[in-house]
Order: sequence, then structure tokens, then C-alpha cells
Amino acid sequence: MTGLVPPRDDLRALEGYHSPQLDVSVRLNTNESPFPPPPEFVEAWTVALRDAPLHRYPDRAASELRAALAEQLGQPAERLFCANGSNEVLQTLLLTYGGAGRKALVFEPTYALHSHIARITATEVLVGERRADFSIDPDHAVALIEREQPTLTFVCSPNNPTGTVEPAETIDAILAATDGIVVVDEAYGEFAPRSALELVRDDGRLVVVRTYSKVWSMAALRLGYAVAPAWIVEELDKVVLPYHLDVATQLAGRLALDLAPEMGDRVHRLVDERERVAKELSTVAGIEAYPSGANFLLFRVLPESNCDGHALWERMVEQGVLVRDFSRWPRLTDCLRVTIGTPEENDAFLGALRAALQEGAA
Ligand code: PMP
Repeated sequence: MTGLVPPRDDLRALEGYHSPQLDVSVRLNTNESPFPPPPEFVEAWTVALRDAPLHRYPDRAASELRAALAEQLGQPAERLFCANGSNEVLQTLLLTYGGAGRKALVFEPTYALHSHIARITATEVLVGERRADFSIDPDHAVALIEREQPTLTFVCSPNNPTGTVEPAETIDAILAATDGIVVVDEAYGEFAPRSALELVRDDGRLVVVRTYSKVWSMAALRLGYAVAPAWIVEELDKVVLPYHLDVATQLAGRLALDLAPEMGDRVHRLVDERERVAKELSTVAGIEAYPSGANFLLFRVLPESNCDGHALWERMVEQGVLVRDFSRWPRLTDCLRVTIGTPEENDAFLGALRAALQEGAA
């Protein structure tokens, strides 16, 4: 042994994914559903799993899952690509269409994994800036696309971590400007007033990515999907590892769809809670919350609070409430993000926030 083997040169500066998990009573930091899946789902799933031939590889094409999802979404099954969480969908898109000599455009601040996976796949990352309200300026986007010709353009809507929902005109302008693929990441799409799903066409270049991790209460199972033109799905199927999606996940994804009305009801409850928490936040002096179409809210701790964002985060942790600390991220100075939980959890958050701010002012 002469020493450690270094990673690829272009990966040496790469940092891993940071989202500290602390043992606290109220965890509002990772945008999961606060509700476990309904017991009848768990029952149906475990019964189906008992009969699954575990000595055989799973269905490579995930045919039953794709057919059921397609029906639910009103899309042809050929437009469905399923993978282990939407992160694996994003990775497969970048493995297929990114790579050395190709560029991916992101609009910061946004979901860190878009640029992270781009770098891992040796795709050059182009950074567009969002406006002060965190929306994408379509003129800026079009100018960047025309100048840099990215193969992939990522639009996160609702945007993580800001909650911003892009207007249809912005998606249209980006689609019209690029010869490449436009990926609209709708991990939080169900909580938003509009979606780009209806814009997916077989003769287009739009891909919409969604997940079971939030609405479907299945973050532990890792299931996400893309709705994409059939010709893109064909290419993704060639690149992704064979048998990547295990039988337990395929069964869960299909059986969960039987609970669509209940899950839809949960979405309404979370959206109502989001609006309640947003209203409460608007009455709290010293912070500014941003409008959100997702199951979380971003807020900034203002200078007049005499408290910086990180200190406020620490004080809330001391009170047993964990939110996500973005306070030291570029463009998000003093910002924290809170996931919408149960009404009790949200009240605990509001109480901890008010107390922490008072401590700051004292
Ligand atoms: N996209 C966005 C915008 C997200 O916030 C997340 C989860 N944090 C994902 C994709 C990935 O979700 P998953 O892999 O659990 O489907």
C-alpha cells in the first residue's frame, strides 16, 4: 500500500449532502409528510409482499406500477419512468443527457442535488440567478440559454428551499428558447396551484419529475418518477441499472394509488396548515416569510430582530424544534426553512420561534 486512491480530479472539491439529523421531538427539517402511510396501505402492501417471488428479479420494466401511475395521471404508460426516489430519476437524466462537454443550467438558490449530481456526472453547471422574490426572470433565462446552449435546464417548481411556483409563461419561454431538455422538478407539485404535467408531449422536450416521498408518505421506500416524452423514457431505460427498482417498492407504489382520495385530503390539510402558519408568521416581528406553493415555508431573520439566522436555529433546537438552517448559504443569508407538520408540531414551531426571537431581543 502506497497511499489512498484519490477520487476523479473533478470530484476532489465535492462536498457531501449536508442535512443534520438531530434527536429532537419536533422534526420539521426534511419536508417529509408528518403522517405515516394509512394502516390499510401497510396491510395491503405486506400481504402482497408475502406472495412476491423474492428469489426472482423484479419486473425490470415496472410494468404494473407504470400502468397504474399512468392511469392515475391520465398519461400513457410509455411516458413513465420510475426509480429509487426522484433523486435517482435526476441522476439517470444527467447520466443520459449530461456528461463531459455538456452543460446543465440551474437557477440559484435551488435544490442542491441538481448541481451536485451534474458535477458527479462531469456535466458543467451553469448558474442563473433568481430575482429578489426568488422567481426566475424569463428574459435572463432565455438570454443564458441562447448564449450557453445547455443540454439540460432545471426548473424546480415549487422551488426548494424557497417555495416559489413559476408561472406557466416562464416554463413556456424556457421551452421555446432551448434545443435541450427542460426538467421541471415537481417534488412538491401536489401542494402547488399549478403543474407542468399537462405540457408534456411526445414531440416535446419537457420532463416533469415527481416523488412518493412527500404526499404519499413513502420517503423511507424511495420511489420517484418522471413523466417524459416516450423517446426520453426509452433512453433512460437503457442507462439505469437493470432491476434497480425492487419488488417491495414497485408493489408499494402501485398499492398506494388506491388511497388517492385520502392522500388528496392530506394535501388539502397541509396546504391549509401552510396558509395558517404563513399568516401567523406575518404577525411575528423581525422575520419575513416568502410565499410558498410547497409543504414548507422559507423565512428570513431580519436585522431588526438583533439575532442572526443560525443563532435562532440553535435556540429553536434547544427547545426541541428542528428546522433546516440555510442561513449560511449563498443568497439565503439568515434564512431558515420549516416543513409544515401536524397542527401541534406547527404550533410548537411557532411557539419556539417567538420564544427564540424574544431571547434574541432580551
Ligand atoms: N427534488 C426536490 C426539489 C426535493 O426537495 C427532493 C427531496 N428533498 C427531491 C427531489 C428528492 O426526493 P426523493 O429522492 O426522496 O424522491
